[in-house]
Amino acid sequence: MFESEQWDTVLFGNVTLRDLLIYVAVAVVGLWIVRKLVRWIFGSPGSGYTVPGKCVSCGWEGKVSKYKGVCPKCGSRAKIVDPRRRR
Ligand SMILES: [Zn+2]
Repeated sequence: MFESEQWDTVLFGNVTLRDLLIYVAVAVVGLWIVRKLVRWIFGSPGSGYTVPGKCVSCGWEGKVSKYKGVCPKCGSRAKIVDPRRRR
């Protein structure tokens, strides 16, 4: 594929092919870590910004949006209950 000298090929300025690959690798790993952290902070994977919630009016329980906690059953604003904070 690449000869060893080609890793030191200057692409632009003083950036070599080797530098570029290192930057790309750091960016990919960095993004992966950020995504892991976001999922860890905001809850279960794939749920977006939903949190467990409970409606104070009709007693419905389920996933509600973190920012618009509205009950899908009766339409009133659901009280957000986070099980992680009960501990
Ligand atoms: Zn309700």
